[in-house]
Amino acid sequence: MSNERTILKVIHDPEQSIVGDSVEVFLQNLSGPTAIFLKGKDTSRTRAICTLLHGNEPSGVYAIHNYLALGIEPAVNTLFIVASVQAALSKPAFSHRFLKGKRDLNRCFKPPFDDEQGAIADAILQLIHSVKPEALIDLHNTSGSGPAFGVSIKEDADHLALTSLFTNDLIVTDLRLGAIMEISESDVPTVTIECGGANDTSAKFVAQEGILRYLGADNIRAEMGLDYRVNIFKNPIRLELKQGGIAAYSNDKQSDADITLAENAERLNYGMVPHEEPLAFLGDKGLAVLTAKDYKGTERLGEFFEVSDGQLFSKHPIKLFMVTTSSEIAASDCLFYFIGCNK
Ligand SMILES: [Zn+2]
Repeated sequence: MSNERTILKVIHDPEQSIVGDSVEVFLQNLSGPTAIFLKGKDTSRTRAICTLLHGNEPSGVYAIHNYLALGIEPAVNTLFIVASVQAALSKPAFSHRFLKGKRDLNRCFKPPFDDEQGAIADAILQLIHSVKPEALIDLHNTSGSGPAFGVSIKEDADHLALTSLFTNDLIVTDLRLGAIMEISESDVPTVTIECGGANDTSAKFVAQEGILRYLGADNIRAEMGLDYRVNIFKNPIRLELKQGGIAAYSNDKQSDADITLAENAERLNYGMVPHEEPLAFLGDKGLAVLTAKDYKGTERLGEFFEVSDGQLFSKHPIKLFMVTTSSEIAASDCLFYFIGCNK
């Protein structure tokens, strides 16, 4: 059933034997990055769903497996892309964002495509461009626990309508990292849905119910005069550790770390953090280990943060998103995203 491009296997209308009776069996049957086409009632249009760009974010693939196992006929043709199958299967299952030595696949959707991850991203992009779906939803989990939200590079009515099928909050960013949602630029409205934490029960339902709405509706584009009631948060800034910086998660200051955040730092997700609330302990180097550049590349650290008694504080109230409690992700990606709330 696979085409000549083994880099991205293609399956049409999978048999139940491929779907299997568990997500693990399903992924073993796919064995690598796979595109699955499902015939819909209206075969003149296609909608796409991508998931598992990160192998440790399972809500999307659980929801797709559930959808396929139920044997539902979607409203229009559907393309499912299940990406980092090997990373997800690598033991213990669903614990690897990507395989050791490989790049983060959701940073590879821009040239150069000259390594294995780049080639997978390129194959996915080529397939999407050839299919021309009317929309693309990319399903993820946040690394910490928290509510669902969307992320996109556009905030037009179509992107709000798509978001509203899953959640009422949308982060709109001008930052370009090579994420798949950036193909919104080439006229495929795309929203990344962060369904919540990988272990949050609510995340599973966000993905499952969202997929049912997205694939069941006759029309998913914006309709004139409808208010989608989506809150927009523009251009959050990433608080990052500089190269070689070490983050720790503990309720006591760790002497070998440059920054120590609380063990349950993810409770800050989505909340407003007032100036008075310490965010972390800093090591001897203080703020010098941190950087908070906006999408234009301008350093904003000193504008938003200060140190007092070896602890990190925000200068004004800020709202945090995607707070991780993984020191690995803190070092390789970012500590969290934030926006100022002082207006
Ligand atoms: Zn992700």
